[in-house]
Amino acid sequence: MSLRNRIIMPAMHIPHGGRHITPMLEQFYEERARGGAALVMVGGAGIDIVGSGKTMLGIEDDSYIEDYARLADRVKKHKAAFGVQLFHAGRYQPSRYSGLQPIAPSAVRSKLTGETPRSMNVEEIRCIIEAFGKGAARAKIAGADCVEVIGSAGYLVSQFLSPLTNRRTDDYGGSLENRMRFGLEVAQSIKEHCGKDFPLIFRIAGNDFVEGSNDYTVAVQFAAALESAGVDAINITGGWHETRVPQLPGVVPRGAFSYLARRVKDAVTIPVMASNRINDPYTAEKILENGWADFVNMGRALLADPDLPNKVETGQINDLIPCIACNQTCFDNMFEDKQVSCLVNPRAGRELELNIIPAAKPKKVVVIGGGAAGMQAALIAKQRGHDVTLFEKSDRLGGQLHQCWRSHGKTEWRNLLTYFESEVAKHNVSIRLNTACTPTIIRELKPDVVIVAAGASPRRPDIPGVDLPHVILAEDFLEERAKVGKRVVVIGGGPVGVEVANDLARVGTIDAATVEFLFNYGAENPEAIKELMTRGTKQVTIVERGSILGEGLGLSSRWVLLMELKKRNVRSLTKATAVEITPGAVMIQQNQQIKEIPADTVIVATGYSPNSQPQNELRDFDGELHIIGDAVRSRKAVEAIYEGYLIGTKI
Ligand code: SF4
Repeated sequence: MSLRNRIIMPAMHIPHGGRHITPMLEQFYEERARGGAALVMVGGAGIDIVGSGKTMLGIEDDSYIEDYARLADRVKKHKAAFGVQLFHAGRYQPSRYSGLQPIAPSAVRSKLTGETPRSMNVEEIRCIIEAFGKGAARAKIAGADCVEVIGSAGYLVSQFLSPLTNRRTDDYGGSLENRMRFGLEVAQSIKEHCGKDFPLIFRIAGNDFVEGSNDYTVAVQFAAALESAGVDAINITGGWHETRVPQLPGVVPRGAFSYLARRVKDAVTIPVMASNRINDPYTAEKILENGWADFVNMGRALLADPDLPNKVETGQINDLIPCIACNQTCFDNMFEDKQVSCLVNPRAGRELELNIIPAAKPKKVVVIGGGAAGMQAALIAKQRGHDVTLFEKSDRLGGQLHQCWRSHGKTEWRNLLTYFESEVAKHNVSIRLNTACTPTIIRELKPDVVIVAAGASPRRPDIPGVDLPHVILAEDFLEERAKVGKRVVVIGGGPVGVEVANDLARVGTIDAATVEFLFNYGAENPEAIKELMTRGTKQVTIVERGSILGEGLGLSSRWVLLMELKKRNVRSLTKATAVEITPGAVMIQQNQQIKEIPADTVIVATGYSPNSQPQNELRDFDGELHIIGDAVRSRKAVEAIYEGYLIGTKI
């Protein structure tokens, strides 16, 4: 198999409403193939029902061949190779999807699902191995150029490989040789069904990052054994779903896990692929140039911008739509079986419904508000040929994006701000900064359409002392507009409150360069260095009225943030209400008691209220009026950007 470049679209387990391939999915993958990806890997495709869910693709019988054949045609006509990833979740498969108890090498409870699987007997093991082979044969008949087995992430193959989940005493358990047997027999079965020349890729974890499970020493041995069994390439990722080492959010540095691929590359002669947080061409190129891997998986990057490979090839790097590692509409939706899309590219997963079609009759459009929603609406409307003027009452575009990127793990959000700024400039959207769009201006301009995207403003709690000088808003802290004392109380434990608390708790810790220096020269022992990089100089307390901290954060990010707060000794008071702020403290009510929390600075993070003035002033406007984003009600950036995109395509 020969590939046109080294960029792989990995299987991303995209829920799409059933086991068969839908027109939406065909369009989704075709656009990634047309955008220049070398190999489009589709799946996971369940090789049986018990090991995959109703939202996974299936390949367990011949009725699926036609689906994959259709998809293969659409991918391959753009000169991309087409592959199918074969999937069995084992103990990770919730029974609610099949009504069947999950199966696994041993009956070890899954922390992911809370369920205990049934231990497979040898007959069942042989059936599953055969099912992998048959699934691969169906993919081949359908026109796939290769198949991949997912032997990572804590799914069935990794469950056999791990001493943590494999407690068997027969030929499939015990020694490493026995624990590798299942994966190796799956590889053999595929080769038997498809012929030894049919390319087979195996995706494995370079380190499980789970206590008591396998580390890289096992990964390199397994990779070498797979090569000996005839596997043609190894795709390296890290971790299981149960790992407490973050894999996906923005706290993971770009390309951080490519060192796992490098270790495996040293142990095999077949091609190796690197994965995780490879979201820009520079990171990808570095991995390839350093010789850590032969190919790079760029899943989320291609969700954000399907044309990334072509843009890179033609030098349009500044036009890339950047993946910002937010996970808000990709992995977080995936984990909840919701439609997958992308915060920065609302068209992803909606390729059949959201299209930028030239306007039949160009209109005069006014957009009020230069935040994410307003910029997105203005951009799409302008691209469709409308005459667009964007009003922003402050001296800059971007709205709350200016604060978003400042929190730990969210620096990628700055790229979204930069992207929007450069796109509105490139498309010549007329921009009026420092201008509140009044009814007088509207009467003068006589637009056909007004889109109100005026955003929201921070809410202050109505309690005594809230106007004292040491009380500041979260955005004042984030944009470094106010000094913060040693003892800080954050009122509000929602997403902004917990992020701000974490940022505060990091103040005074040593930076990465100092950590490297101290390690390099053995200046301090590792425990001392850990202490210096974890414990800051501020005492931080969060006061939250509800019982849950960080409610509203996505599944992939919330646990990471809460873990950071714990590590950094942030005090969290839930079911606690701030009732008064005094010059040196916050009085709170908790468990029907009044308590005093000392505070040199109080930071208010109690949510946002829509800026409704523009729409109120436009009641008499007799053209088309649309209100979008936080101006409707305060929500996440993902809703704002989607609504901006949607209205831009509709007017
Ligand atoms: Fe990247 Fe966020 Fe889009 Fe996911 S939703 S692909 S993380 S930008």
